[in-house]
Amino acid sequence: MSKKRIFLSSPTMHGEEQKYIKEAFDTNWVAPLGPNVNALEEELAAYVGIGHASALSAGTAAIHLALRILGVKEGDVVFVPSLTFSATCNPVMYEKAVPVFIDSEEDTWNMSPAALEKAFEKYPSPKAVIAVHLYGTPAKLDEITDICNAHHVPLIEDAAESLGSTYKGKHTGTFGKVGIYSFNGNKIITTSGGGMLVSEDGEITKQATFLATQARDAARHYQHSQVGFNYRMSNITAGIGRGQLLHLDEHIALKKKIYREYEAAFRDVRQIRMNPLNAEGDANNWLSCITIEPGCPVTPDMIFEALDKENIESRPIWKPLHLQPVFASCDFIKENEEKSVAEDIFYRGLCLPSDIKNTKEDMDLIIKTIKGLF
Ligand SMILES: *Cc1c(COP(=O)(O)O)cnc(C)c1O
Repeated sequence: MSKKRIFLSSPTMHGEEQKYIKEAFDTNWVAPLGPNVNALEEELAAYVGIGHASALSAGTAAIHLALRILGVKEGDVVFVPSLTFSATCNPVMYEKAVPVFIDSEEDTWNMSPAALEKAFEKYPSPKAVIAVHLYGTPAKLDEITDICNAHHVPLIEDAAESLGSTYKGKHTGTFGKVGIYSFNGNKIITTSGGGMLVSEDGEITKQATFLATQARDAARHYQHSQVGFNYRMSNITAGIGRGQLLHLDEHIALKKKIYREYEAAFRDVRQIRMNPLNAEGDANNWLSCITIEPGCPVTPDMIFEALDKENIESRPIWKPLHLQPVFASCDFIKENEEKSVAEDIFYRGLCLPSDIKNTKEDMDLIIKTIKGLF
């Protein structure tokens, strides 16, 4: 008998999504635009507490438009954390700009403020800085925004993984000049695929919506003065998002519970550590991760294999971008020359199943399988 698959993080639907989709069908608002799109923008902006939002086809599209709107052009330097998903950096390449990768710090695994300072010494005028809140843990936003402000460089927050996480009581994604969220399939809420660009500056979100709908000028005939994109979210997709947003708090509570269960279960295993949270913030705990202490004979690969044998999905930590063949020619700035924190986390870490539909029995099996190796 084949075992049931235990997932890393899969979509969790509730039924309300269908109500909004049905409304879209009933009113024939199946095309892009429509009441769900505008409503999702307003509802999400209200949830995170920001002035304006633009609903887009993906988080990646949102990062791309953020770079466009901030005027990033060919040859411009953009600072990007190394320890992140490649989607953070791909839009930098679309614009033929030059990513400079910044190392992580151990406290949160996110962009190291000290390494960011060093990057500014070497490259004094980057066009933008992109910060990421990895696995839902907020970055050191005070330090990062202070450095960006001191150098008059705009911050883009890639909050694709951290919707609902806060730092000093304020939502991640709302600290930068522009913030972005993702509603991809395995994120904390999903629209099957989609994203959102947010800003306190309504001109920025207006520009995003304009560029996302082929940059059509205000003329009856189809006139275009700029190159546009087809990046708008559809009214059907937005309907799923509205239904999901109603359950975001519940998803976060369940993700936190998963983290606490792992934390409690591994408390007596000295060689296992949970991924860090940020004491100044409140993480959504999108994915629970562990690192194995240096010198431990059990490797993340061995844990991955043991879980896989039980049909349990786990995932390596994002491979740092400075180690990726596609970004091999890019510079990488560390806080301290002897050691890359991002590489260390990658080699010693693993993302554990964090699906909110996993049962008590599933959690017990995952924990038993991992502890059995120690
Ligand atoms: C998922 C993700 C993205 C991309 O979002 P999409 O909606 O899949 O395009 C960008 N950055 C990070 C850190 C992500 O995890």
